[in-house]
Amino acid sequence: MFSKVLVANRGEIALRIQRACKELGIQTVAVHSTADANAMHVRLADESVCIGPPTARDSYLDIPSIVAACEITGAEAVHPGYGFLSENARFAEILEAHGIAFIGPSAEHIRIMGDKIAAKKTAVELGIPVVPGSEGGVETDAEARRIADEIGYPLLVKAAAGGGGRGMKVARGPNELEHALANARAEAKSAFGDDAVYLEKYLATPRHIEVQVLGDGKGNAVHLGERDCSLQRRHQKVWEEALSPALNEDQRAEIGETVAAAMRKLGYSGAGTIEFLYEDGNFYFIEMNTRLQVEHPVTEMITGIDIVHEQIRVAAGATLSVSQSDVRFDGHAIECRINAEDPRTFMPSPGRISHFHTPGGLGVRVDSAVYQGYVIPPYYDSLIGKLIVHGRNRVECLMRLRRCLDEFVVDGINTTIPLFRQLVDHPDIADGSYDIHWLEGFLADSM
Ligand code: ADP
Repeated sequence: MFSKVLVANRGEIALRIQRACKELGIQTVAVHSTADANAMHVRLADESVCIGPPTARDSYLDIPSIVAACEITGAEAVHPGYGFLSENARFAEILEAHGIAFIGPSAEHIRIMGDKIAAKKTAVELGIPVVPGSEGGVETDAEARRIADEIGYPLLVKAAAGGGGRGMKVARGPNELEHALANARAEAKSAFGDDAVYLEKYLATPRHIEVQVLGDGKGNAVHLGERDCSLQRRHQKVWEEALSPALNEDQRAEIGETVAAAMRKLGYSGAGTIEFLYEDGNFYFIEMNTRLQVEHPVTEMITGIDIVHEQIRVAAGATLSVSQSDVRFDGHAIECRINAEDPRTFMPSPGRISHFHTPGGLGVRVDSAVYQGYVIPPYYDSLIGKLIVHGRNRVECLMRLRRCLDEFVVDGINTTIPLFRQLVDHPDIADGSYDIHWLEGFLADSM
């Protein structure tokens, strides 16, 4: 086992990883920008290193500074969390070249899955069902038109390098295709420096259902069931649950086994998520994330498996501590992403938190790195905490969530808590009958 791990991240996820390290008896090193000198992840770490100015490009994304921090402190491994360098294959390779372990999959697997065109091709080879679309990238407008006629409209132009919902444009008919192609290309070029795009059938009313997997790179892989992340705004997840209210046990076992078998075949190592759209009883692969996800706690709540422990153990060369028959699903869990944003306009709301009180009690978990008096810097994402609630069933989970949202106090800034108070009382949410467009419709109606 490692004796010292550097966490190359900030905020709640840095704390989450430090907690796992402490439980495993591992010393922790925090890295931080000058804007984060007083941050909780710095205070709770055994050691900390300042790696640069506030801008992420010059600190949390600065590979030489992070490698230097490892060398100064003697850290043997790096956990990248999510975002920042977590899906950067070069980073994994550079660490390896310096004799430092990357807590995540191989650089090769990161690279394949980071290119959505290559990822889709690999999914097909591994027997995972995909969304109908172009077989690879589309180069010219003429080629796109020809393929679009075959797929049919509406369709989606998607960036190979896409992420965070960027580089994705709908074409409802042939007259919109040229515009969608140009827009998707331009957005992808400016956001990712890569303008490769492909075409995909636009599914009208799907749910977003994703399967959590763990592999050890030694031929073992298990699935930990699915999460339903259909409640989205601008293709970004807002509320996630496990298990999905839309699947029965047989469907769960079938898609879970398909995915686990694919990961065994790939020799995948670490935690990963295979994302699907689900419509009319069919699954369609959209992408794989080769890292820990924001919403991983809902899976932990229903399985009792600490996903970060497994990531660390596997990176240190151990085999998975769980086999598929050890994985049991107990009750229901829901996560609300609490953002420092206006609950109606979603404008960022940085500033000083004057009062902070988190809910507690049975089945309640709050993952957050903020505290009373903390000043939210304007440089990073707006997630200030995650409220995760467990119940013996979905009804009990919703009852508990309603109580927790009433108990949660964050003063001094705007947060998305009032939105969740509305959602938890909505009959469609109570029924679990929502698709990926439901939330935007709800927000438009309540404006
Ligand atoms: P990103 O990596 O940018 O998050 P994804 O491919 O994971 O992109 O898609 C994000 C979201 O966009 C999905 O959860 C879904 O809401 C929507 N989406 C993606 N592909 C399709 C599609 N073919 N049809 C309809 N919606 C889609």
